[in-house]
Amino acid sequence: MHFHSLLLLSIAVVVIEAAPFYGTVVSRAEELQSEYDYVIVGGGLSGLVVANRLTEDPKKSVLVIEAGPILNPDPDAVLIPGLAISLGQSYQWLTQTEPIADLKNRTFSISSAKVVGGGSAINGMFLQRGSRGDYNLWEKLGNRGWGWDGLEPYFKKSETFHPPTGHDDLDIAYDLATHGTEGPLQVSYPQFLFPQLKLIMEAFRKFGVTIPKDSANGNGIGALWVPSSVNPADETRSYAKRTYHEISSKRSNYHLLTERQVTKILLKNKKATGVTISAANSTSAINVTAKLEVILAAGALHTPKLMQLSGIGPKALLESYGIPLVQDLPGVGSNLQDHPTMYSALVFNSTIPSGYPDTNQLYTNATYAAEMLAQYHANRTGPYTMGLGNNAAFLPLPLIAPDRYKSLLSIALAANASTSDLAAVQAGYNKQRALLLAAFATNDVAVDEFLVGTSAGAGISLQHPLSRGSVQIRSTSPWDNPMINSRSVSDPLDRAILVESMRYARRFHASPGMAPFSPVEVSPGTDVVSDEALTEVAREALVPTFAHPSCTCPMMPREIGGVVDVKLRVYGISGLRIVDASVFPLIPACHLQATVYAVAEKAADIIKGK
Ligand SMILES: Cc1cc2nc3c(=O)[nH]c(=O)nc-3n(C[C@H](O)[C@H](O)[C@H](O)COP(=O)(O)OP(=O)(O)OC[C@H]3O[C@@H](n4cnc5c(N)ncnc54)[C@H](O)[C@@H]3O)c2cc1C
Repeated sequence: MHFHSLLLLSIAVVVIEAAPFYGTVVSRAEELQSEYDYVIVGGGLSGLVVANRLTEDPKKSVLVIEAGPILNPDPDAVLIPGLAISLGQSYQWLTQTEPIADLKNRTFSISSAKVVGGGSAINGMFLQRGSRGDYNLWEKLGNRGWGWDGLEPYFKKSETFHPPTGHDDLDIAYDLATHGTEGPLQVSYPQFLFPQLKLIMEAFRKFGVTIPKDSANGNGIGALWVPSSVNPADETRSYAKRTYHEISSKRSNYHLLTERQVTKILLKNKKATGVTISAANSTSAINVTAKLEVILAAGALHTPKLMQLSGIGPKALLESYGIPLVQDLPGVGSNLQDHPTMYSALVFNSTIPSGYPDTNQLYTNATYAAEMLAQYHANRTGPYTMGLGNNAAFLPLPLIAPDRYKSLLSIALAANASTSDLAAVQAGYNKQRALLLAAFATNDVAVDEFLVGTSAGAGISLQHPLSRGSVQIRSTSPWDNPMINSRSVSDPLDRAILVESMRYARRFHASPGMAPFSPVEVSPGTDVVSDEALTEVAREALVPTFAHPSCTCPMMPREIGGVVDVKLRVYGISGLRIVDASVFPLIPACHLQATVYAVAEKAADIIKGK
């Protein structure tokens, strides 16, 4: 690798008073070059995957720039699955939403990671794929090759799946044909699972909910077993840094620069030529050249922000901030989706079935928790091998509301649903809406995730919201977080589905399968039954995010608000691609990380021309 004395000279000139400009280029600080073949913005989940695959070619040099730190060594709260909850708000950007009208003008913090590995470093390790119907909607929006059949090989490529062992009593079925055996990400079921889960899964089955053989094989509808991104060799978190990055870091053509933020994409004659990099709140900056491409992997909140700051986005928005327009692309920052969630709209008291352990002890009994943690350290067994759960029910609308779904859908079809005054964005939304409403009438997509714990409880998460939000710069400063207009549950059908989901949850808790838990609703109370009253409960309880912001630079045809084409190239600009969760056109009905891994794997193949 060449050493560029010119660059060092410019560092000496630019960085004067403050701390040295360069933080860490992992293991090779002195080797930072002034130009690379590929410059990747964001060393999160997708950025590290793409960097790994591109550096497989020793002739191609790659620089990844990550705003957050690299964790060396990884703290226990990252490594130990059962401690994930203790991470709280560490290593995040914590972007605030604007007040949300349909949620009583409340504001919320949206989680997105700021650390090497991105969300994969701090997430709940739930490793779930959406169903065939979810991704086939992507294809129907004009994205040939991005349906289930086009993505399944990349889900497989990203993972090494370890079949469950020692849980014969729980009947966790799996389909090896859909799993990978050589991918960097280690996927497994925890060594310990609470026996109550059998009762809960059985309760769903008795209530008419199917339990698919393996939720990963395109049939992720029903009551599901879902593995974790955990390495069973030592029961620790498997994540993009400890997998893809570790492999890349042995290659001399890979550089990672941490705690430095990309503040601008350099554009010349509508071609991306490099990026400007700066330390936090520093006025000094340097430019690095991308000989082949700039690849955006800054996540669904920061990728559109960076594009807008660089002159690519809705014309009127950029003009209002005096940013010279390079490319008018109305879709940049539009189409924001997430999974709005009610953790405690319905609260049930319940009992522990006789002969079963008290699953709450881990949080209520410090002595027990300390013993279990010691057991984990001693032999990697016990409840600390569990992440944030391995079950969920993903339910379609005809199942949740068998008597009402047709009338709800016909009301939604007749509605005049406006989401944007930008014609292209509205056209794309109209198409999305028509496809979603058609899919909602089938059992092919889930509209609701029913969060499954180890006793009674009715967390409800909307999986295919019709409401659309936006991400827009709030100033010309790269240090300001973007403005998030979530518009969560602004569409009446979103609210109606939440209401029907609460009714379904009540019926489920009253079903014979749940009798061992003797559930009793304590809030809001069984007398709260009308549409209006339950909608009010939802407005009070709903959180607009499940840490799944996505879809803000959608892959769709340009004339309907698309930002990238099927090769993930930004329309109108050469040498610029996006590979992160912003390119999803529609949020899938699942937790997002497996899909981000697959999209990034596919992106890398596309960039390599495969
Ligand atoms: C708290 C939390 C819990 C979650 N739980 C789960 C779960 O259990 N299961 C699941 O499937 N999914 C989960 N997710 C979601 C999943 O982790 C994310 O969808 C996924 O990480 C998104 O990948 P990405 O590459 O698009 O973005 P990220 O992984 O967020 O990576 C983007 C990176 O870019 C960096 N960056 C941004 N702007 C700049 C800039 N200007 N310059 C340099 N760097 C920049 C960021 O710091 C970040 O590290 C969770 C996410 C969070 C935050």
